[in-house]
Amino acid sequence: MGFIKLHILYHASKEPIYGVGIMEEIGRHGYAVSPGLIYPTLKSLETQGLLKSDKQVIEGKVRKYYETTEKGLELLNESKKKIKELVNEVLN
Ligand SMILES: [Zn+2]
Repeated sequence: MGFIKLHILYHASKEPIYGVGIMEEIGRHGYAVSPGLIYPTLKSLETQGLLKSDKQVIEGKVRKYYETTEKGLELLNESKKKIKELVNEVLN
């Protein structure tokens, strides 16, 4: 599970996210990501059953919101353990 995917799962578990919003969030961490990367990633996470989407109309525009599924949460928790292990090893 790569950084970008993990990051998306994490944020979508806190609140519903959408493409541009998560792109900006990941950018805030100093990673340059393009729509050409984000949208296919969101789609593949949804295909894998890790995210679910819901269309909402915001100011006359249809926006697709994604939320982490139960399966996505399980994967996120698994990954957290691995991240902890790695952090402990690298920082100690
Ligand atoms: Zn973040």
